[in-house]
Amino acid sequence: MATHIDIALVPVGAVDPVVMGWLKGDLPGILTAAVEEFPPVPLPPRHFHRERNQYLADGLLADFAKFVTSPTALVLGVTEADLFSLPMNFVFGIANRGRALISTFRLRPEFYGVPSNPEVYHLRVFTEAVHELGHAMGLAHCEFPGCVMYFSNWIGDTDRKGPKFCFRCGKRIERLAEVGWE
Ligand SMILES: [Zn+2]
Ligand SMILES: [Zn+2]
Repeated sequence: MATHIDIALVPVGAVDPVVMGWLKGDLPGILTAAVEEFPPVPLPPRHFHRERNQYLADGLLADFAKFVTSPTALVLGVTEADLFSLPMNFVFGIANRGRALISTFRLRPEFYGVPSNPEVYHLRVFTEAVHELGHAMGLAHCEFPGCVMYFSNWIGDTDRKGPKFCFRCGKRIERLAEVGWE
């Protein structure tokens, strides 16, 4: 059965257009989705925690409600700012029903003191985007380390799992795309 998902792609603060281009190109291949890029929204100072030099991910995500306009609509926010969500010191991303947000801050190889590598960076961005969109559609973490829905405790987990759903999670996504996730 044909499924249709609309993804609103929203830069939060200034985001490298190359990264936005990667996501626009990549996501339709995995989620059978129509992806539309929106103009950037500002990083709200009220979610910034000066003592941590990070934004509260939950606060940014809460502001996305206006982009979720139908039961099969998703919003994916992308920011270059570092994010936290208690009790975790940092998160690569966060999601709840219909809404997802990723941070590129800890996805760049340079963050870990190694030379820049656009291929590695690209795959990490894609993987984290699909992971958070999976949560936004209602999927929980998967115990299979090769599935995109496996929990990434550190960047090595992200590099190992890659952007693909395992068979079982893929079937669940197909089903959710038909019935919606509200
Ligand atoms: Zn997760
Ligand atoms: Zn899985």
